Amino acid sequence: MSKTFDLNKILRPHIISLAPYSSARDEYTGHVGIFLDANENPYGSVTEEHYNRYPDPYQAEIKQKLAPLKNVSIDRIYLGNGSDEPIDLLTRATCTPGQDHVIILPPTYGMYEVSANIHDVIIDKVSLTDDYLINVDAVLQAITPKTKIIWICSPNNPTGNVMQPEAIRTILENFDGLVVVDEAYIDFTETPSWTQHLDQYPNLVVLQTFSKAWGLAGLRIGMCFASPELIRILNKIKPPYNISLPAQKELLKGLNESGKKDEMVADILKERDSLCNMLAQLSLVIKVHPTDANFLLVQFEDAKAVMDYLINEAIIVRDRSRVHLCAGCLRITVGTQEENEAVIESLKKYKPENITV
Ligand SMILES: *Cc1c(COP(=O)(O)O)cnc(C)c1O
Repeated sequence: MSKTFDLNKILRPHIISLAPYSSARDEYTGHVGIFLDANENPYGSVTEEHYNRYPDPYQAEIKQKLAPLKNVSIDRIYLGNGSDEPIDLLTRATCTPGQDHVIILPPTYGMYEVSANIHDVIIDKVSLTDDYLINVDAVLQAITPKTKIIWICSPNNPTGNVMQPEAIRTILENFDGLVVVDEAYIDFTETPSWTQHLDQYPNLVVLQTFSKAWGLAGLRIGMCFASPELIRILNKIKPPYNISLPAQKELLKGLNESGKKDEMVADILKERDSLCNMLAQLSLVIKVHPTDANFLLVQFEDAKAVMDYLINEAIIVRDRSRVHLCAGCLRITVGTQEENEAVIESLKKYKPENITV
């Protein structure tokens, strides 16, 4: 590990001493009794399902099920309202506005930059290499005493590839701030998760989500795995009841169905292969980038025209053609067999003159 990492040097001083909001459910955690402590409605709800009670602020039942599934102890787990919430909280906990820096590695997920901008945090960009890998020397050179977080997305969005483990290891060992590895797409790759190295690296933070492989994007639940010390800080600064009761109930049911998740992932991987092969055979496709995620970054002769043509066919993909190192590229999520075939059939009919501007 980094020999001099000290969480207290990374956190903003007022966050260390902050006294958190103490909710009614923090002060009394028993389950039986007459609950007159939280100003709830005692009769029930206007809806059929009853939601008149506040949810568990720390989602204990969920974490009990999740810990063995992820092979991570409960005190290393934080659950947020999507992964976007821990992204925001990590930025706020560590970076003093107008003063501190974060490093991002474009092309990558947009929220690291947006979160830094919201909080007036200075962004240092270190481009990935032409083959979308981490330029370790450039990252190490970009680190300053004011750098608090390095954001790494692996498998990376929008490029789809996994980042070199040795590069991440070198950064972890040579940086005294937080190294966040966003593993939103970890279920779609054979590459092992960084969660299994949390013991070794107190500056490592791993993000995962229920939005992709688990098919629960609408519930808004993201996972953050880190040292127990950092998890305590996130719990201290989070909105008290950040995961709603229906979301917690649905997720508890969903966690019993990890077999179903595995089946869907297997189907998506099979579809990914066939979509990749079919796209590669089209003459208008220049390149299908290799992927470890549930989407393909595809380079076209004229991405903008293909995008407009597909919209006209009621097929919506993501235009990444103006993104750094992604010129000419559209990002296509792997759909069902029928959806993927529809995309291919449409693209086969595409003629450049189809579009009149
Ligand atoms: C989709 C995605 C997420 C997930 O965000 P949620 O807020 O959990 O839905 C996180 N990181 C990356 C890189 C993603 O592509």
